Amino acid sequence: MNIVLLGAPGSGKGTQASLITEQYGLPHISTGDMFRENIREKTPLGVLAKSYIDKGQLCPDDVTVKMVEERLSRADCKKGFLLDGFPRTISQAEALEKFVKITCVLDIEVPLDKLLGRLTGRRCCEKCGESFHVSVIGKTEICPKCGGKLYTRADDNEETVQSRLNVYASQTASLIDFYQRKGVLKSVNGDAAVEEVFAAVQEVLNTL
Ligand code: AMP
Repeated sequence: MNIVLLGAPGSGKGTQASLITEQYGLPHISTGDMFRENIREKTPLGVLAKSYIDKGQLCPDDVTVKMVEERLSRADCKKGFLLDGFPRTISQAEALEKFVKITCVLDIEVPLDKLLGRLTGRRCCEKCGESFHVSVIGKTEICPKCGGKLYTRADDNEETVQSRLNVYASQTASLIDFYQRKGVLKSVNGDAAVEEVFAAVQEVLNTL
């Protein structure tokens, strides 16, 4: 199964991706995580990516496509993969088509007015990468899952979130139509408890 997870920033793609990976054993390929790893390691790609990510803008298509193509060519992706955060533009989707066939695109739908609060209240774990919301975990700085230290992503401040949401509306949302026309789009309601969303995701994946 070659799956793409689509959805606005804050729609819960990362959370659903962890659950899917656990259940179906697909490697989770998150372009955001790959860029953040490069930023931590201060690679040339990381330095370039940071200048875009800090402003809430998309990194250039050419470097992003190259990074994904290299990752998908590795042995662990031969039996399938789960892409999270890629493609984000029509041009990335067209490039992706040239090197793999996508089985299903899962769009996680959350009303736009809920996304800002979801993102600014998000806390991520340094150790396991899981994310949580302050409305659920309160002010704790300790990860409820693994005990690691929680932090707030640098791009989860209100100003950057606003520009990420604008970028989603202007450049990424059109992928819904793109994949609808190709007959591979499945939508699930993401405005529900994590377990409910995952149940809907499983319903789709189990029919593939
Ligand atoms: P994410 O963790 O998916 O929210 O991504 C964080 C940031 O990484 C985005 O706001 C972009 O700046 C950058 N990024 C991640 N995926 C892509 C992509 N497919 N194309 C361009 N930029 C990306």
